[in-house]
Amino acid sequence: MNIYISILALLISSCYGEKNSLAEIKSQIKINNTKKIISILSSDSLMGRDNKNMGYFKAADYVIKYFKKNNINPLYDEFKDIFYSDSIESFNIVGTVGEFLYERKTILIGAHLDHIGTSGVGADSIYNGANDNASGCVSVLQIGSFLSQYKWDYNILLALFAEEEKGLRGSYNLAKRMKKENVNLKYVINFEMIGKEMKIGENKVYLTGYDMSNLAQEINNVVPGFVTFFSKSKEFNLFQRSDNYPFYKVFNIPSQTLSSFDFENYNYYHHVDDEVDNLNIKNLNDIIASSAFFISNFLNKKTEINLNTN
Ligand SMILES: [Zn+2]
Repeated sequence: MNIYISILALLISSCYGEKNSLAEIKSQIKINNTKKIISILSSDSLMGRDNKNMGYFKAADYVIKYFKKNNINPLYDEFKDIFYSDSIESFNIVGTVGEFLYERKTILIGAHLDHIGTSGVGADSIYNGANDNASGCVSVLQIGSFLSQYKWDYNILLALFAEEEKGLRGSYNLAKRMKKENVNLKYVINFEMIGKEMKIGENKVYLTGYDMSNLAQEINNVVPGFVTFFSKSKEFNLFQRSDNYPFYKVFNIPSQTLSSFDFENYNYYHHVDDEVDNLNIKNLNDIIASSAFFISNFLNKKTEINLNTN
């Protein structure tokens, strides 16, 4: 190789490497922002983010404003993928990092925004859903705003799903719509309940459908030890219980959920005390930074994620 070309290559690779190093990402994904966003999304004024009491739509307004402020573009009119659920109009929120080109490969990063609302009994009747799933939403927002600062060779979709708690209705709607529109979807990474550290330690998650694809292995190649195998995930069939599942069904591609809820580390699942003060925000922020790091690494290196054939 010519000496000048070598120097040029070195310069390019160092700039390229630096823009998405873990240190650089950690300096940009700030814990104060993570805390602020998750506190807003799980505040009492959003009334448990259900569409019957309109709390969901308040939360959606916040997310849409956040997307606009962070240069994330709408995939559909006003970011809304509209559908009807029990005759009530609802919508997923879908943004795109940079421009969306149909011929290009697409990845989707998602989390459900809805929760179970209010119960109407007791002193505290609001199911704030800080862990379930404001923690997943803040991950999508923070990772999206980080990625939106750069140009990528992929379409990157950010989806906040509606009506997950009523049976994955929002994600089924979006998966079917994107299939009809011939979106060239390659893989989906979904975030669900990552607000509390796992019993086995900090900065760790498990992946539902662990051995269905090379995703766990590829993530661990970038962030060693980040993804663990969690036997209860298989036992309780968690792979089929979050918004990753419709994309697997409709597209037959790797579509999996990252979670740190291990059934022993948090007593407030679908409980009125699922509030920010009961979470570990430092650990949540570390998981977000690690996730932004592996995702940008996959995009830079054009890592292929495939279903296992056996
Ligand atoms: Zn959930």
